[in-house]
Amino acid sequence: MQVDLLCIGNELLSGLVENTNAGYISRRLWSKGIPVREQRVVSDSVSAIVKALKESLSCSEAVICTGGLGPTDDDLTREAVSEALQRPLLLDQGWLRRLERFFEGRGNPMPAANRKQALVVEGSRLLPNPLGTAPAAIVPAGKRLVILLPGPPREMRPLFEKEILPFLAARGFRASWRTKVVRTVGCGESLLEEKIKKVGLPEGVLFSPLAGGGEVLLQLRTAAADPAAAALLDEAARRLREHLGEYIYGENEETLAKTVAGLFTKRGLTLALAESCSGGLLADALTDIPGSSLFFKGSLVTYGNEAKEKLLGVPAELLKSEGAVSKAVALAMARGARRALSASVGAAITGIAGPESDSSGSPVGLVYTALCGPAGESCRRTLLPGSRRAVKERSVQTTLAALWRMMRSAV
Ligand code: ATP
Repeated sequence: MQVDLLCIGNELLSGLVENTNAGYISRRLWSKGIPVREQRVVSDSVSAIVKALKESLSCSEAVICTGGLGPTDDDLTREAVSEALQRPLLLDQGWLRRLERFFEGRGNPMPAANRKQALVVEGSRLLPNPLGTAPAAIVPAGKRLVILLPGPPREMRPLFEKEILPFLAARGFRASWRTKVVRTVGCGESLLEEKIKKVGLPEGVLFSPLAGGGEVLLQLRTAAADPAAAALLDEAARRLREHLGEYIYGENEETLAKTVAGLFTKRGLTLALAESCSGGLLADALTDIPGSSLFFKGSLVTYGNEAKEKLLGVPAELLKSEGAVSKAVALAMARGARRALSASVGAAITGIAGPESDSSGSPVGLVYTALCGPAGESCRRTLLPGSRRAVKERSVQTTLAALWRMMRSAV
């Protein structure tokens, strides 16, 4: 059984809003082994939604729609579903009261336009949406299903997790395959592929490498979803770890930042940062992880030379003779952060994010990443490709990779 996905909204077609719902829903269904046949972005037009719905219902057992459930004139999903299924819209008194209470709770009378949100397609099962007013619903369409979810991701995601995934499982949407993602860093896509072919994966396990952001994710997939398939995946991951362990930092949802955080916490070590070109992005990535205060002491965002001197104690002469983007300054920054925050490990990033080079004439994308800890010091010079933002993000990934390598070996 398969699913079609319709994301509704002109703001998606114009590119004003990025269609993150499609990625999220597809990723979650894929991880459960449920195939998504097609994703489509549809305009705020009843005829366009009706056409897309009919086509999807003729191919897939369930059609998930997001967006167009609000109170404004361009929110037309419920009207389109009513027309496509030839079922009337009925005023749901319970939902109307819920809407009135929602606005009362905020100390405002309900705007007249919101009454429209209590109109539901006959036969729908409404789903509680504690974070908004849009009535998410499951609408049976013969043996098929239309699932309506609100557009805002903060409303859509909890509904999808809490209501839709269990509902699909109960309706017989079983996994058609099993997957595992093996996460790697430090080896390019094509070289990694070559190495994997040499190692050889168990028969029945397919793999595809996905490169991006300085990492390569290996997506492993079996053609079946039985327990034997799970064992095959485990065996594939074991073989990869045995032969390519130096590049593998985690599996599935385990990001590099989470892996690094886990290693620091497990070893009872602490970390201090000095960030120049990354502007605090590494601190942002680490503080996204719950419990990071157990190991992360803080980051000094020392963008200018004066801050490097005053807050990290980088000597003015060094900055002058070597330049702010240099190995010597990166190491001095790492030492300074470690000292200033009394941490076990100091890490520093200094580089040229672009789009123009600095007065030294060094190339855009040149980044030095320095570490200093109980086992000594190291510094890596890299030339990172891409826009200013890309260089900042890649510099964070490069530093996390260096921290991971350091923490894997005895500190
Ligand atoms: P609301 O009651 O908030 O209007 P809705 O279901 O009608 O809910 P829309 O009006 O279609 O949702 O979209 C509201 C906002 O949700 C959009 O402006 C956009 O910011 C976000 N949004 C909608 N669809 C998507 C999507 N596919 N991916 C990411 N964000 C989206």
